[in-house]
Amino acid sequence: MTIFQKIIDREIPADIVYEDDLALAFRDVDPQAPVHVLVIPKKPLVNVAGASEEDRSLLGHLLLVVRDVARQEGLVEGGYRVVTNNGTDGGQSVDHLHLHVLGGRQMTWPPG
Ligand code: 5GP
Repeated sequence: MTIFQKIIDREIPADIVYEDDLALAFRDVDPQAPVHVLVIPKKPLVNVAGASEEDRSLLGHLLLVVRDVARQEGLVEGGYRVVTNNGTDGGQSVDHLHLHVLGGRQMTWPPG
């Protein structure tokens, strides 16, 4: 079981900023920007590569949750970055799909 499943199950605490039947959003414990929220599905998908055709609407829903969280966090005017790390080369460290929502400062490119 991943740490994010434990957050979904309320076995460990998190600063939750949004929840619905399909998704949860909470603040990253090690924020890389003034706003750093993780949006995850409650369904335990490992990552984008682990998604299937039946997850089509869930994946779309997650992006709309990103949109709503960004609005809630006051990021619309300044802009923000949405990132999902996939697998070893992507730098994924938790094997439960998550979208990083980063904002509140100027981002740089390319990422490290
Ligand atoms: P990844 O490296 O897999 O793309 O991102 C995992 C993210 O989860 C990291 O940014 C890390 O700081 C965050 N994280 C890891 N464990 C916890 C935790 O227990 N609680 C919260 N809120 N974030 C966590």
